[in-house]
Amino acid sequence: MRAIGIDLGGTKIAAGLVDLDTGAVLRRTIIPSEGDKGPQVVMDRMADAARQVMEGKIVGVGVGAPGPVNYQGVVLWTPNLGGWKNIPVAPEMERRLELPTRADNDANLAAWAEYRFGAARPFASFFYLTISTGIGCGIVLNRQVWRGHHGWAGETGHMPVVRQGRKCGCGSYGCWETVASGTAIGRAGSEALGRPVDAKAIFQLAAQGDAEAQKVLDEAIDYVALGLTSLQKNFDLEAVIIGGGVSRAGDAFFIPLRQKTLGYLRHMVDEVIILPAQLGEEVGIIGAAALWT
Ligand code: ADP
Ligand code: ZN
Repeated sequence: MRAIGIDLGGTKIAAGLVDLDTGAVLRRTIIPSEGDKGPQVVMDRMADAARQVMEGKIVGVGVGAPGPVNYQGVVLWTPNLGGWKNIPVAPEMERRLELPTRADNDANLAAWAEYRFGAARPFASFFYLTISTGIGCGIVLNRQVWRGHHGWAGETGHMPVVRQGRKCGCGSYGCWETVASGTAIGRAGSEALGRPVDAKAIFQLAAQGDAEAQKVLDEAIDYVALGLTSLQKNFDLEAVIIGGGVSRAGDAFFIPLRQKTLGYLRHMVDEVIILPAQLGEEVGIIGAAALWT
């Protein structure tokens, strides 16, 4: 069985033809989203991208959107794509492509892709986090994505963790992603070093023994651990899978994160399972198509 997965991002639309038995992306295209032209144009472009990769019999189309999506396939809002408020993306794409279409939030779909084809295969219930520019979260409970009552469960990056903290892109203050994302590491690093650096550079400097960079990392990773601890104290799931730019730091990120999280949870458990995501940049396409599995 094959499905089309469409990954809508702030700047790019990626679409692929996916083999649902293996998760393999058989054909693939990437085009600019042209988000400034509004949702109707973006949806026309998504349809064009889908047509480019279409081949043979297709069970359906899946769309991953960079914001919460309700049960009717309506995008409620998007922080990084202008004019998207209550846009019925699944019905609109169904009309354009004349194929059954489902839609969900991109982090939910990445969680689902990791469950079906990646690092989360052994687990029935887990958190998936993408720690990158912001923090996205997908929650799989008993082998199903938990989407919440309205459809916006997993807005975990916007858990308030700092009282009177820094203003977040969502309009609120002191959200988790203001202290624990790649952007936050870059900003804290730039302040500490007095010159512009990004998270990747901070990891490199710390690896070379830079004490200031190491301090910035310790604090940010501690904030990641605090958030994970809050999640686990509520849900006690089997594992946490982490993808996104910051996860590419590898052991320099995961080893201290496991230590710190276990430190906070030690009175409850003697092991925490925190693993890197396995699917690469095609995770969005695979997850969207996997709405049909
Ligand atoms: P994406 O395209 O997924 O948003 P980017 O590569 O643009 O990912 O990076 C997003 C964030 O992740 C940035 O803050 C960046 O500094 C950080 N990042 C990217 N690669 C690494 C790495 N190898 N180690 C640590 N942080 C990284
Ligand atoms: Zn926020």
